[in-house]
Amino acid sequence: MDTVEKRLQAVKFRIQTAARASGRDPREIVLVAVSKTFPPEAIRAAHDAGQRDFGESYAQEAIAKMEALRDLDLHWHFIGPLQSNKTRPVAERFDWVHSVDRIKVAERLSAQRPEGGGPLQVCVQVNLSGESTKSGVPLAGAKSLAHAVAALPHLALRGLMTLPEPTADEVRQRQRFGALAALLDELRDEGLAVDTLSMGMSDDLEAAIASGSTMVRVGTAIFGARPPATAALDR
Ligand SMILES: *Cc1c(COP(=O)(O)O)cnc(C)c1O
Repeated sequence: MDTVEKRLQAVKFRIQTAARASGRDPREIVLVAVSKTFPPEAIRAAHDAGQRDFGESYAQEAIAKMEALRDLDLHWHFIGPLQSNKTRPVAERFDWVHSVDRIKVAERLSAQRPEGGGPLQVCVQVNLSGESTKSGVPLAGAKSLAHAVAALPHLALRGLMTLPEPTADEVRQRQRFGALAALLDELRDEGLAVDTLSMGMSDDLEAAIASGSTMVRVGTAIFGARPPATAALDR
């Protein structure tokens, strides 16, 4: 069996186990396979094993892969940092954007979304640790950004995303993920129709699922370690 196929099955098994452990239906959780830095052949192998959702962090790299994989029906998720002068290819080519953290970026994505393509599905990325170097809106500004994004005509606000700094401490992992889940509940109470918590990666997907994640973004556990030269750019 292909390595990607085996790893994909192992990740799906982890998702099922984690979901059942907290009394959840595993079908509520979408697996986004993060294929950044990996070639189109790796994506094709994952597709042939049944995977449809893929996450990419760099627009130009992603578009080259989309071109190489035109024959496949895939859902593309943009998960990387987004500068407001680089939104157009993302608005035009992706199905989802998880990393909206400023109103200016959201406004441009909405304005640049092609007619007839349907709304771009978006999550507001929240910086829970308050580190200034990280992308993501600080917790204090997250609600007002979410309401502003929800009002834009060509975006569909689906929920929240977070990319916490790594820790092996599962209690801390759950605190952060729990804070994002609580914020989603507050947005619902305020009338927003949000259903998505994009949280959990290769090393912490169990804690994320225990805290209510509906989308896990998993790279390394499916495709293997990324090359060191690009790994530095990851975060
Ligand atoms: C690279 C990346 C991931 C995947 O991380 P792994 O640890 O390889 O599973 C998930 N989310 C974002 C935003 C990323 O940049």
